[in-house]
Amino acid sequence: MDLTLSTPVQYVPRVGPARAKLLAKLGLETVRDLLYYIPFRYDDFSIVSPIARVRPGETVTVGGTVTAFHNAFTKSGKKLQEVKVGDETGILDVIWFNQPFLVRVLPVGTQVRLAGKIDWYGHKLVMSSPSYEVTGLNPVSSVSLHTGRLVPVYSETAGLTSKWLRGRIAFILETTLKNIIDAMPGSIQSDYHLMPLAQAIQTLHFPESIKQTETARRKLVFDELFYLQLRAWEERRIWENSKKSYVCRIDEPRVTKLISSLPFTLTDDQQTATREILNDLTRSYPMNRLLEGDVGAGKTVVAMIAMYVAHLNGSQSVLMAPTQILAEQHFATINGFLEPFGVQVGLVTGSQKIESARIASPPRTRGSSAKLNLDSRLRGNDKMNILIGTHALLSKTIKYQRLGLVVIDEQQRFGVLQRSALEEITKRGKTPHLLTMTATPIPRTIARTIMGNLDLSVLATIPDGRKKIKTWVVPNEKREKAYQWIIAQIDQTGGQVFVICPLIEQSETLVTAKAATSEYARLQSIFPKFQLGLLHGRMKPKEKNAMLDAFRQKKIQILVATPVVEVGIDIPNASIMLIEAAERFGLSQLHQLRGRVGRGDLQSYCLLFTEQVEEQTLTRLKSMETTHSGPLLAEIDLRLRGPGELFGTRQHGIPDLHIARWTDTEAIAETQQVVRELVREDPTLSSFPLLRDQLGESTIKSAHQD
Ligand code: ADP
Ligand code: MG
Repeated sequence: MDLTLSTPVQYVPRVGPARAKLLAKLGLETVRDLLYYIPFRYDDFSIVSPIARVRPGETVTVGGTVTAFHNAFTKSGKKLQEVKVGDETGILDVIWFNQPFLVRVLPVGTQVRLAGKIDWYGHKLVMSSPSYEVTGLNPVSSVSLHTGRLVPVYSETAGLTSKWLRGRIAFILETTLKNIIDAMPGSIQSDYHLMPLAQAIQTLHFPESIKQTETARRKLVFDELFYLQLRAWEERRIWENSKKSYVCRIDEPRVTKLISSLPFTLTDDQQTATREILNDLTRSYPMNRLLEGDVGAGKTVVAMIAMYVAHLNGSQSVLMAPTQILAEQHFATINGFLEPFGVQVGLVTGSQKIESARIASPPRTRGSSAKLNLDSRLRGNDKMNILIGTHALLSKTIKYQRLGLVVIDEQQRFGVLQRSALEEITKRGKTPHLLTMTATPIPRTIARTIMGNLDLSVLATIPDGRKKIKTWVVPNEKREKAYQWIIAQIDQTGGQVFVICPLIEQSETLVTAKAATSEYARLQSIFPKFQLGLLHGRMKPKEKNAMLDAFRQKKIQILVATPVVEVGIDIPNASIMLIEAAERFGLSQLHQLRGRVGRGDLQSYCLLFTEQVEEQTLTRLKSMETTHSGPLLAEIDLRLRGPGELFGTRQHGIPDLHIARWTDTEAIAETQQVVRELVREDPTLSSFPLLRDQLGESTIKSAHQD
């Protein structure tokens, strides 16, 4: 059978179904995947030495004939293979451990090449556990793959060695590499001095020098970033050409009237973002915009203005929050601002189960609107102009009328979820405009790369009048002192405290809840004279609400919470944020947690507890003391920890990079430039059929966003 690039690995000779399963564990499913499976390092076995010349400490390749093979035991009872290999200049002792089967692979008389390190074993010079390659008469292995060169080392999985992978990759390089088509336009290829694709792949697997691998890598990095961005632009083009939205007209006087009714003036950033969003609403294709802004930057009100405009144009809007508590908070705020303008705002909560989608009892503080909303359920949600809620908004029992705008708040996963959400609620009719909001900044490098299909508005400033949150990293030996300090603070200022338990898992589980419960118990004895509360994701919404109410009403001084609980809650009197095991969080996450305090008039503090003493960890945490900008902290974390760690790129819908890294800023800038020019000149790529084909398939699997 002829192998093509898309042939499943199973059909590669000497692979078969069992090994194909193992390869799948490495994400390798097709021949193409194998070609792009780039080694993570190279063993330098390129020095070939006559046996008589080997020196201790050297890593070398020698060639010769097996003259003796002896299966023995070490003193501790391990199986030991003692082998002698000779060439014209001398005889070398070679040992392996626990590989008695080698006697069948390397019987006396075998011609062999060995690569490894020369060391003392007792008072003999030996080569210990070397790579080996039978040279003999077998023509297949006459090409040296494992010795005598720079040898590629691949990430392995149980049952698949690097050596085996090397053999299979060498095989497909020989048989199928010639089929690979480089879709990169020749002019770009030459303008940027890129190595031809096939040569780059060949070189990365079996380079002649390390220097060569750098040029080869540059080509693959360039390609990956190029196609990633080209695809993003393509998605955008399709989005703009195939989706129809409800076009809004902007009634300036009424918008101005709403804005001037607010108890504050909008910041410049809020004004700009509002303009950008309203402008999107006037288009005939749906908005796809991300509103990014630090905690407290005032995103809600910007979204609210957009929803008001949709309403003025006869469209419904929904605002989806990640938790019920946030939804209720948004409801209270937005209803408060919009009710005087005759806008009907409804709150939907409940589980995702269809039967149980219901109108929740609205916050107690708003008695009159509570009635209004209860009534509204009876009349049907379609009478509401704005519906606020959790995922329950996606319930099929809710019938939308001219749904024109969807706002998703604190959206940490703007890839996957947002799309499915939209598809759910807009089975028929036009596509609503989509606004997602996040406090997690996307570093500029990443944003620039994927912004082809996503517009970005940033609220970079926090409304005036907020004091910087004083932040300290607290090492273990200062823990007691810190507790004393907290007690004194509560006594003096009446401020309240959040205690965030260690991050155990990314999602809230029983384990996390238990850990929080025991921390809560422990702190009782440290703060005996205060009331403590406990908040975790395993509690019922009612219990959580009651707890937060008690905290808000100052019946509780110290609230112990799990890290993932209720990201956006607004409690002005909370002035101290204590975070346990701070090193487990990304800086952006810490910054978001820190934003829970400092919302009122009190000077606020953030204490980052850590038991780590490692210099690097402390330096990273200490940047929290000096840096108070979310985007800056994100950049720092990107540099120090890489994006995967920090942003949970998957989670965010940011594609994983395969060969390139998000820190390849130069390549990102280059490819961005190239792609921009290309799509400006030829948006449909009509004169680049190869590129069009390429967009249809996946050169690099992970370049796909979903
Ligand atoms: P976030 O961006 O974190 O979602 P919110 O929208 O919850 O922030 O706003 C935080 C608080 O700041 C709210 O109480 C809101 O009313 C207030 N706020 C919003 N914009 C301004 C502004 N321009 N000036 C003063 N306060 C504002
Ligand atoms: Mg918010």
